[in-house]
Amino acid sequence: MKIATLNKGKETKYLNQYPLVEEEDIFQHDHLKEGDLFNIVTENNQYIATAYVGRQHKGLGWVITYSQEEDINITFFENLFKKALEEREYYYNIEGTNAFRLFNAEGDGVGGLTIDNYNGHLLIQWYSKGIYKFRYIIIEAIKKVFKFESVFEKMRFKDTEYTGGHVLGETPEFPIVIEENFTFYNVDLNDGLMTGIFLDQKEVRKKLRDYFAENRSILNLFSYTGAFSVVASKNAKVTTSVDLANRSRTLTEENFGLNGVDPKSQYIYVMDTFDFYNYAARHGKQYDTIVIDPPSFARNKKKTFSVQKNYDDLINGALDVLAPDGTLLLCTNSSAFSLKAFKNVIKKTLEQANVEYEIEEVMGLPKDFKTHSHYKPSKYLKAVFINIKH
Ligand code: SAH
Repeated sequence: MKIATLNKGKETKYLNQYPLVEEEDIFQHDHLKEGDLFNIVTENNQYIATAYVGRQHKGLGWVITYSQEEDINITFFENLFKKALEEREYYYNIEGTNAFRLFNAEGDGVGGLTIDNYNGHLLIQWYSKGIYKFRYIIIEAIKKVFKFESVFEKMRFKDTEYTGGHVLGETPEFPIVIEENFTFYNVDLNDGLMTGIFLDQKEVRKKLRDYFAENRSILNLFSYTGAFSVVASKNAKVTTSVDLANRSRTLTEENFGLNGVDPKSQYIYVMDTFDFYNYAARHGKQYDTIVIDPPSFARNKKKTFSVQKNYDDLINGALDVLAPDGTLLLCTNSSAFSLKAFKNVIKKTLEQANVEYEIEEVMGLPKDFKTHSHYKPSKYLKAVFINIKH
């Protein structure tokens, strides 16, 4: 087994089960390649944990066991998958939802690997070349533990020509329809990096529908396939969806259609968010609830946008078109943008804009997106409902 020796003083961090092996904590290591297993040891050569090499953003890899005797084989993954499955029993037993995460990376014991269930069609996501080296044994373990009609995969790392596709079972005709909290959405597991729906927002969508949509006019920015609009439309007066991508229009119309809502009764704009703000303000449009769920980084012809640097512009633009006593739903899925920093930006921006406000609800990941208690970035999702008085 290869060895990585920690810098003096770094033992406690790993003894306390921090799962990400950080390059700067390593004093020296044997020539480590993607997919290698290695032991993390103290400067006195005492074993702490076994990890694999899988470089994602900054880490060298992930700890996967604290037992030197444990073999990393099919049984190892089988046991982890069985445990993860037991913890998802709830989702198999409730009505109205058939799509959820089955295995959530470091939260379930293996950073860099996720498995989602879309009504019996599974999606594996590989986040590094390193974890992909374990593909054979992981797929064998999946076959033993999970029931499925088909399995697909996506590579979430660079440096690969093959970006994903069909793995097992019979290929269904895409899009398939999934149900979440009694709302239907189209999903395609074999078309680019996204699937049509972000399963981590399921509780936020439900909250929007149940508490902030009733008889309101809803504006959904960065709307993608319109998931927030569709769920809100069950109670809303009307919804408006805005996304820069051309494809978003048809995908959103189809999702409305699946739920018995005439897409022509709703507004859909293929437009940059900031252009839309100008357009809406110029026309005196106002919205009672505004949903902002942007990508962490975006680029359009004029400028680059990052949530950490530019969220204030998004909030200020929204205030210009928010109806009196309206609600903002502000989201970010950037793990680099902490809840504390996000709340600070919100506070500062709203204070400078001179509006009174009340934070109604702060939400995070649902429980199928199990997080790691010793690794804060695993709680990447932040969704804040704010009532504005003006
Ligand atoms: N809120 C969505 C997910 C957003 S994915 C949901 O709930 O499903 C990010 C989306 O932002 C993409 O569809 C992308 O086309 C869109 N986007 C990126 N830059 C944009 C911009 N400047 N204005 C509007 N939409 C943008």
